[in-house]
Amino acid sequence: MMDNEHEVQTGNLFSEDTPKMPEGYYSGDKPNLNLPAFVEQHIKSRPYSTNEDYGIDSFSEPINAQREYDIFNMHAYWSKKAHEAIEQYIEHYTQPGDLVLDQFCGSGGTALSALSLGRKAIAIDRSPAATFISNGFCSSTDLPKLNEEYARLMQKVSSPISELYNSNCHICGSKAIIHYQVYSMTFQCLKCLRKTPLARCTPVDNSSNAYYCPYCGDIIKTSQEKTGYQLIET
Ligand SMILES: [Zn+2]
Ligand SMILES: [Zn+2]
Repeated sequence: MMDNEHEVQTGNLFSEDTPKMPEGYYSGDKPNLNLPAFVEQHIKSRPYSTNEDYGIDSFSEPINAQREYDIFNMHAYWSKKAHEAIEQYIEHYTQPGDLVLDQFCGSGGTALSALSLGRKAIAIDRSPAATFISNGFCSSTDLPKLNEEYARLMQKVSSPISELYNSNCHICGSKAIIHYQVYSMTFQCLKCLRKTPLARCTPVDNSSNAYYCPYCGDIIKTSQEKTGYQLIET
C-alpha cells in the first residue's frame, strides 16, 4: 500500500465544508432519501429558471488524457475514463459551485472530477458494485487512520497466510519469501518448432509484436497462437 516511491497524500481533496454529495449511500434499487433535500438546498443557493438561456457551445476539442496514475489505477472497474478527459467537459459546461448529475455513474469518475473542480455532484447507478465503488472513490479518507487499519490488518493476517509465500532463494537456496512472480506468454517458433517464453526473446523493433527466436533467430509474431504461460521470475 505504501512505499518509498509514493509520497503519502495529506489533506482533503475536497476543500470546502459545504455538502458536495447527498448525505448517505444507498445501493441497488434503494432510493437515497437525502437526495431531494440536497437538490433543494442547491437550488436555494443557486436559483435557476427554465427560461434561462444556457448558451454554451458543444465541446469539440480533441482530448489527450493520461491513463496511468494512482487515482485511475485505484480500481479495475470496466469502462472507466481518465479524469483529465472528464474534467475538460466539466470545465467547459459548468462553473464552480454548479451541480453535476451523472445518472449512470459507473465507478464515479465524473463525480470525482466534478468534486475536485469545486462542483457539487450526484452519482446514481443501478449496479450496487458501481455505487459502492463510487462512494469509496468520492469520500475523503482519514489517511493516518487508514494506515493504522492497514497495519492492524497486516498483523492479523500475516501469520496465518505467510506460509503460503514461503519459498527458497533460487541463488543460494536459503529460505525466502515470495514478493512477486512474473509469468510470460509462450510461443512456438514456426521454423525450429521450439517453445519459448516471450520475455526471453529480443523484440525486432519498438512495436513489440515481433520477436527473434532465441534458438534459431527466426521471427516469432505475437499474432501467432500462444502455447501457454511460463513462470520466468520469482
Ligand atoms: Zn539467496
Ligand atoms: Zn526458432
